[in-house]
Amino acid sequence: SRQTFFGILHYKTSMVQEKQIIKIVPPREKHWVGDGFYVSSIFSMHSEENKHISPFLLLDHAAPKYYPPTDQKLGVGEHPHRGFETVTMAIKGEVEHRDSSGGGGKINTGGVQWMTAGSGVVHDEFHSRDFAEKGGEFEMVQLWVNLPAKHKMTKPRYQSLDKKDLPIVLLQDGKTKVKIIAGSFGSSLSPANTFTKINIYEVEGHQNSEVNLNFDDGTNTLILQLAGSSFIGDHNLEKGSLGIFDRNGISINLKTSEGSKILILNGEPIEEPIAAHGPFVMNTRDELFEAFRDFQEGKMGSLPD
Ligand code: MN
Repeated sequence: SRQTFFGILHYKTSMVQEKQIIKIVPPREKHWVGDGFYVSSIFSMHSEENKHISPFLLLDHAAPKYYPPTDQKLGVGEHPHRGFETVTMAIKGEVEHRDSSGGGGKINTGGVQWMTAGSGVVHDEFHSRDFAEKGGEFEMVQLWVNLPAKHKMTKPRYQSLDKKDLPIVLLQDGKTKVKIIAGSFGSSLSPANTFTKINIYEVEGHQNSEVNLNFDDGTNTLILQLAGSSFIGDHNLEKGSLGIFDRNGISINLKTSEGSKILILNGEPIEEPIAAHGPFVMNTRDELFEAFRDFQEGKMGSLPD
């Protein structure tokens, strides 16, 4: 019957409901983090859009910048973190780190370090010795991912994901690439372990590349145009811009220009209060004071000299 026909139509429409862009944030001013990372803070938990950002807290992008050869250590010295995770993606160049558990290592070009600060770590972050000596183009992203209250004091953990560990899906056009940093795309899975449901992709797009994304209804999605430009429906996303999406809906269709590089973040929001200051992200003021106290009393450890 006619009624049934429209019933089916309505059902199908809601099944392919597109997630709508609610805001495009234009490129941000740059500032130095230490003397090695000249970054734009793309979004922050302190902004008015914070409901649409969760479980992500902050994203700093160090856009490509040339560094001449040096024997200096460029970066940020000893500092703590508690209550969340830092995800560092070395897009060009290499980052070296040391931490209070005695660990350390290098994030190579194309690699990702997923650090769970949990109950607390003290670490430093520098351009790698090898990279600094040779000099060159440096580009990096650091993303902060919140931990749900029940995992904030989890034991610190590192996941070093080399370029070769991260699956790259080649789309049907034979040229568009989707690198899976977290979660899944189609039937391909990232080896990264996360505490909540998260998808992170880096897309390399060309002229008229088309990428169809499918995420759960009710999840937050952020798209950052690292290079080139793209179209999402009628919205043009220029280099350095961030698209913030409504939670409703499941699909996003992206069309790119030549030389596009896009970072896509999607995750289940954590609906809990945030009490954050500097390097600590907790749920209450008391927990925040405790974090400062524990750090000052050396309970998060320290780095060897
Ligand atoms: Mn840090």
